[in-house]
Amino acid sequence: MPADVSYSRATERRLLRFALWQAWGMKCYWCDVPKTYLDVEIDHIVPKGLDQTQLQQALKDYGLPADFDLHDPANLAPICDPCNGRGRKGPNTYSGAAVVLDHLRKAGELRGKVVRTVLDFRKGGDVAKALLELASADTLVAAVRDHFRAYFPAVASTAASIDPALLDLPIYRELNIDCGYPVRIDLESRFAHELWFLEGFLDCDLETALVEPLGGLMRQLTMEMEHGLQGHSEFEPIDVGPPVPYVFDVRLIEIHVPREALGSEIEIELVLRFDGGLTSSATRYADDGSERLELQGEAEVSGTVLVQGTWSADNGLSLSDDVIPEQDIKIDTWLE
Ligand SMILES: [Zn+2]
Repeated sequence: MPADVSYSRATERRLLRFALWQAWGMKCYWCDVPKTYLDVEIDHIVPKGLDQTQLQQALKDYGLPADFDLHDPANLAPICDPCNGRGRKGPNTYSGAAVVLDHLRKAGELRGKVVRTVLDFRKGGDVAKALLELASADTLVAAVRDHFRAYFPAVASTAASIDPALLDLPIYRELNIDCGYPVRIDLESRFAHELWFLEGFLDCDLETALVEPLGGLMRQLTMEMEHGLQGHSEFEPIDVGPPVPYVFDVRLIEIHVPREALGSEIEIELVLRFDGGLTSSATRYADDGSERLELQGEAEVSGTVLVQGTWSADNGLSLSDDVIPEQDIKIDTWLE
């Protein structure tokens, strides 16, 4: 039976993406990290970019029939941009790896659910269409954000009147903070209430508020790494370039926002766990002094930092950029 629910129905791709995201537990199937609907794309588990010979080989390897429909939900899964984009998976890779077979097995199991969601939507009428439209809105557009602030409380209270649990949602957000370098921060659902209080009630923009503390952390890390590189060799380097992060992930692991003591000033604490890599160049003379050598330094960094701040009615939120390491910041440097 030809699949009625298919990736090849271009006009329904947004709906299919939603159905896949929901069926797969609102996660990227590749890294297993919770993602928002907006943060996932549709991925073909057996890639659609293979040529005929590769495809037939892949289907054989995976024990699939020769007429297996790559666009059927049995071969589709939600994937996040970092997994899809930067070579972690790659659009044209395939292997006989057990992991692919595992994904195909899961896609097969979830197929019925995905198809049902799409079929139900087709019968769902205007409300279903409007809600999918809301879910797909580009919240980076200022006007869209304003509209959400203006109209969404009415939608939310309608939803809560049906079932309060509808508002008890897993939230997973990525903040992109530019403190000289882009830093991605993962905000987990268990802080939804604290973050709502901080951002909604106290009207703090976390993305802006964290620029200074994270800038402070980066300055501290780059200084320590520079010292590490300078002290690495018994030969004095001529020059050490500024370390630049090439990966840097920050996870919010604790947040303390006292909600009861609503005085004119509130003390706020955030604990952030970071993992990253920095790279830097150095030059020094060769042992016999005949030539200059270019060296590359890399550092793996990880640690936990405490960011403290206060909120006041007059000044809003100010977080200290003097970050306090909760435990030793670990930096391993080496030269290649
Ligand atoms: Zn992913």
